[in-house]
Amino acid sequence: MNIIPLPAFRDNYIWLIHDGRHAAVVDPGDARPVEDFLASQGLTLTAILVTHHHPDHVGGVADLVTRHPVPVFGPATERIAGIDRPLSEGDIVVLDELGLSLSVLDVPGHTAGHIAYYAAAPAPGALFCGDTMFSAGCGRLFEGTAAQMSASLAKFAALPDSTRVYCTHEYTLSNLAFARAAEPVNAARDEYARRCEALRAENRPTLPSTIALEKAVNPFLRCGEDSVIATLAERSGSRPADAVASLAALRAWKDVF
Ligand code: ZN
Ligand code: FE
Repeated sequence: MNIIPLPAFRDNYIWLIHDGRHAAVVDPGDARPVEDFLASQGLTLTAILVTHHHPDHVGGVADLVTRHPVPVFGPATERIAGIDRPLSEGDIVVLDELGLSLSVLDVPGHTAGHIAYYAAAPAPGALFCGDTMFSAGCGRLFEGTAAQMSASLAKFAALPDSTRVYCTHEYTLSNLAFARAAEPVNAARDEYARRCEALRAENRPTLPSTIALEKAVNPFLRCGEDSVIATLAERSGSRPADAVASLAALRAWKDVF
C-alpha cells in the first residue's frame, strides 16, 4: 500500500492511497493534482474520503466525481455537496479494490461534525485526521469546544504508537515554534525539530508523523504534563483546573502566537 502526499494550495496535502492499480483520495481540496497523479501513474480512482466541510478539503470533489463516478464518504452531520456515503463513529469504510478497511471516529472541535479515518491494517496502521490534529499542533476551534477537542485528541492518543498520522497541512515547523514556548524543555521535541527543519530545507514533507511521536512532542496531547501546566500557570498566574482548561488556554494562546 502506498500513501502519497499531493501538495495543494499553500500548505495542504491531499493523501492518495494506491496499490499500483486502484486509488482513493482523502480531502481533495483541488481536483487538478489528483487528476495529474492518477494519469501519470495509470491509476483508477475508486473512492473519495472527506473529513470535514472546509473548502480546502472538499473543493475538488465535484470535479472528480464528474470524471470518476465513485462513492464519496464524509461526515453525516455536515452539509457537503456530493457526499453519498454519510458516516459517523463506529462505521467501517470498506475499500474492496484496495483491500482496506477504515474505521470512522467522530472528532469534533475544529468543525462540529469532523470525522477521522483509521486503518489498523496493513501494519503499521494509518490515521487520516484531517484538521483535527497536526504534527505538534491541533486545529483551530472554529465550531467546537476545548472539551470536544480534548476528547477527540484522546481518541488519537489511544491508537497504537506505531500508527502513521496523515495530517492535511504542513504546519509542523510553526507548530514546533509554539511547542517550544509551551514546553521549553523537551529533548525529543528538539531532536524532532532538527529533523523537520532539514526536511523542509529540502522542500520535503514532515509527514506522516506517528502517534508515539505526537505523544512526545505535541503540546496539545501533553496538556496534562507538569511541564506544560507550569508554563500556563506562569503566563496566567494560576494553574489550569484540568486537562480541558489547559487545552483551552493553550489553544487560545496559539491563536495569537
Ligand atoms: Zn479545516
Ligand atoms: Fe484545512
